[in-house]
Amino acid sequence: MARPVYLDNNATTRCDERVVSAMIPFFTEQFGNASSMHAFGAQVGGAIKKARQQLQALIGAEFDHEIVYTASGTEADNTALLSALETQVGRNEIVTSAVEHPAVLALCEHLEKTGRAKVHRIPVDAKGRLDVDAYRKALGPKTAIASIMWANNETGTIFPVEKLAELAHEAGALFHTDAVQAVGKIPIDLKSTEIDMLSLSGHKLHGPKGIGALYVRRGVKLRPMVRGGHQERGRRAGTENAPAIIGLGVAADMALEYMAEEQTRVKALRDRLEKGLLQRIGSSFVTGDPEHRLPNTLNIAFEYIEGEAILLFLNKEGIAASSGSACTSGSLEPSHVMRAMNVPYTAAHGATRFSFSRENTDADVDQVLDVLPGIIARLRQLSPFWQGEGKAAAEFAPVYA
Ligand SMILES: *Cc1c(COP(=O)(O)O)cnc(C)c1O
Repeated sequence: MARPVYLDNNATTRCDERVVSAMIPFFTEQFGNASSMHAFGAQVGGAIKKARQQLQALIGAEFDHEIVYTASGTEADNTALLSALETQVGRNEIVTSAVEHPAVLALCEHLEKTGRAKVHRIPVDAKGRLDVDAYRKALGPKTAIASIMWANNETGTIFPVEKLAELAHEAGALFHTDAVQAVGKIPIDLKSTEIDMLSLSGHKLHGPKGIGALYVRRGVKLRPMVRGGHQERGRRAGTENAPAIIGLGVAADMALEYMAEEQTRVKALRDRLEKGLLQRIGSSFVTGDPEHRLPNTLNIAFEYIEGEAILLFLNKEGIAASSGSACTSGSLEPSHVMRAMNVPYTAAHGATRFSFSRENTDADVDQVLDVLPGIIARLRQLSPFWQGEGKAAAEFAPVYA
C-alpha cells in the first residue's frame, strides 16, 4: 500500500488533535446548556464567549456579537441571502458570480424559480477574474445584496471583495462574501473593510465538521432563518453546539499561529508541485489567476483526458486530489467554474485540483511528481483524442451548450 498523501484540503481538512482535545470535556464533564441558570450552564457559556473572541480575532471583527454560529458554511450563506431579501425592503435582486459554491448558486436558482428574486450572475474571464464592470452595471436600486466569494474553491482565485463591497454600498445594497476557502489561509481584517456579512466553516480550517459562522457587521439587520429559542440573540435558534464552537475557537487560534507558514512553506510546496508538473507533463496548464490565488491551491488541466480517471489512478497510489468535473446524473460534465472560465472542453475534463494544508510535506510533493507523469502518459495512450505532444487533438467537437 502506498503512503497516503492527502491533497484535498479544499474539500475538508483533518481536525487538529489540539482542537479535538479542547472539545472533549464539553461532551462529558461540561455538558451544560449554555442558556441554563446554573453553574453547569455558566461554565459552558463562558467557554463559548472565549471561543467567539478567538474567531473574532481571526477575521478582524471589531465588536462582540458580530458572529452568529450556524451548522455549516452552507447555512451561513443561505442565511445571509435570505435575510437580505427580507430586510432590504423594495429590493429583490441578487448580484453574484457565475463561479460561486453551490451553497450560493443553488439557493439563487431556487429563489429565481420560485419568483422570489432576480439573479444577476456576473461572468469571469479566462483566468477566472470577475468582470468588475459588469458587476458595477448589475448593481442598482433593486439590488438587495451582492454576494461574491472571497476565494474560489476550485481554482483558488481571490476576488477583490473589499472593492466590491464599496461598489455594492454605492448602490445601497448589502455585501456578503462566502469566505469559507479564504478564512485561515489569507489575512482577513473585516474592520478595515465595508463587508457586511461573511461566511466561514470549521472543517475547512482544521476545525470540526458541522459548525460554521456568519459574521454580521454591527448595525446590519439579520432576519433569522431558524426560529425557536433565544440562542445567538435570537438570530439562530437551537441549543449551541458547544463542543464544535469551542473547537472552532481553537482552530481559529491555530490558523492565526500558522498564517505565516501558509504564505511561505505551504505556498512553496504548492509552487514546487506546479512547476514540477508543468515541466514533466506537456499539454497542461494552470487554471485560475496565478497572481491572485490562495497559497494552498493548484488547479491544473491535463488535456485530452478525464479528471475522474486521473483521480482513480492517483487514489491507487495513495494520493487524494479532486477534479474539476462533477459527476452529475451519470454524465461527466466539466464543473460550472471551468465552463464559466471557458476552459476548452478538451482540457476542462482533465482539470485536477491539489489543495495543500500545513500538514503536507515535501515527501507528498515528491510522491505526486513521481507517479503522475506516468499516469497521464498511460491515460493519453488510451485517449481517442490524443495525437501526440504538440499535435492538435483529433476530432473532438463538443462545445458548451
Ligand atoms: C466547503 C465550502 C462551502 C460549504 O461549507 P460547509 O460547511 O461544508 O457547508 C461553501 N463555500 C465554499 C467556497 C466552500 O469551499
